[in-house]
Amino acid sequence: MTEGTGACGINCLACGLMRSGKCSPCGSGLEGQAHKKLAAQLRLLGGVCPILQCAVQRKLAYCSADCELYPCRHFLDGPYPFSRGYLEMQMRRRGAAGQGAAPAAPPTGKDGQKLH
Ligand code: SF4
Ligand code: SF4
Repeated sequence: MTEGTGACGINCLACGLMRSGKCSPCGSGLEGQAHKKLAAQLRLLGGVCPILQCAVQRKLAYCSADCELYPCRHFLDGPYPFSRGYLEMQMRRRGAAGQGAAPAAPPTGKDGQKLH
């Protein structure tokens, strides 16, 4: 995978905010870029993206591809990055238990509404 796709699956490399220098890419949970982004969020916004932090802590690259809990509470509680309809489609088509669960040690962001 290309560095620049966030752990959540958002392709930052295709985002106009990143291309115009208004935002930095997230990277997967296994990339150094993720640590840089978390540090930048903490410094600039006072909190971190719980999805990115959780993927780093769990040592998983991409939530949807690599985590059995996907979509977990970090996604379902929102507000970023996907709609409820999209997440319900994911749960329906995966058809397995465990999704929608709360991760064991949920990291916190000061204000999840402002982490982008
Ligand atoms: S939800 Fe988190 S990992 Fe995904 S693009 Fe936003 S800050 Fe990055
Ligand atoms: S528990 Fe949720 S946020 Fe954490 S790696 Fe799994 S899907 Fe991603």
